Amino acid sequence: SLGVFGGSSSDGTRANSTPAKSGSTERTITLMPGDGIGPEISAAVLAVLKAAGAPLKFETVDVTPTIDKDGKQSIPQEVVDSMQRTKLGLKGPLMTPVGKGFRSLNLILRVLFNLYANVRPCRSLEGVETVYGKVDVITIRENTEGEYSGIEHQLVHGVVQSIKLITRPASTRVADYCFRYALAMKRKKITAVHKRSSMRMSDGLFINCVREVYEKYKDQLIKHGIEYEEAPISKVCLKIVDDPTQFDVLVMPNLYGDIMSDTCAGLIGGLGLTPSGNIGLNGAIFEAVHGTAPTIAGKDLANPTALLLSAVMLLRYIDMSNYADRIERAVIKTIKDDKVRTIDLGGKAKCSEYTQALIKNV
Ligand code: NAD
Repeated sequence: SLGVFGGSSSDGTRANSTPAKSGSTERTITLMPGDGIGPEISAAVLAVLKAAGAPLKFETVDVTPTIDKDGKQSIPQEVVDSMQRTKLGLKGPLMTPVGKGFRSLNLILRVLFNLYANVRPCRSLEGVETVYGKVDVITIRENTEGEYSGIEHQLVHGVVQSIKLITRPASTRVADYCFRYALAMKRKKITAVHKRSSMRMSDGLFINCVREVYEKYKDQLIKHGIEYEEAPISKVCLKIVDDPTQFDVLVMPNLYGDIMSDTCAGLIGGLGLTPSGNIGLNGAIFEAVHGTAPTIAGKDLANPTALLLSAVMLLRYIDMSNYADRIERAVIKTIKDDKVRTIDLGGKAKCSEYTQALIKNV
């Protein structure tokens, strides 16, 4: 099964990372509950996984940053050690402290584990009404460089520079991942997104790399009826809000990917439903797309679906599709029932009530 929300065991989502064991042998997962609503939605997800009988064991680690005597911020060694052992993480949202000297912890994790491809399946959930009807778009975002390289400085007072870093190795590896993903998932079309008319060198290099990789897979893609096209980000934005069915798999540099993937989440009814996988060289971390939702934290109001569907992606990634399918069916069944929808979906149910309904349906 290729599943609704993510890759099946053979879908190439595991590309370039340590192969997972197949079957139902118990797997250990590093759980990072995170901040804000993170702990409550993590607890909900664990309860549903348990009810589904998924043979997973969790090592719970605290990702609260440590600050050394020089003021340098990093994530606790415990997290690194656990991830190095398990190679698999399930992560709640982390608050990004605002202020000088603070780096995004998400960024630290991405760099540390070389999580080079961010994969976000945005598929409309049966029963959740959206203006767009049936949407099924996968965004694959280069996750390690671009404008998010963190290379910023002030030249003189009132003049700053943020460097957009694009390299051949990073562009090639995300493109390679994208083509393998599209083939394994039997997708229909790949669109390489750029703005090369303005960012001639950086997006020019990115697109050239994607095109080179396309040449490598061209025969296979044609054989499987998968189209390839290139399109400027501005045109993709215009067309996707008009008719999302024009797109299938989008691959793009980091900043465009960040924006497009949230746009796609909006097309299917919001952040509360959207899972993601960060696929890396040294492991993979699955997480909800949304943040810590501080205004509803601790009030039993959060929707745990996005994190649960991230766990579903993780299950498929480790060859446990049977549990993934079971949970996915329970999500669809539960959300179809108006009575137990959480507030973000227009319902009145508490997180705990929704979780109980999921457990009953699993
Ligand atoms: P947010 O995603 O936390 O919240 C946006 C809106 O969506 C809010 O109205 C919130 O209540 C709602 N919402 C989000 N998730 C929900 C859920 N599961 N159920 C119900 N409603 C939900 O975005 P923000 O307010 O911009 O960010 C808050 C904090 O989260 C910031 O510190 C930000 O840096 C951090 N953040 C972290 C991650 C991550 O760790 N991957 C991602 C995005 C934002």
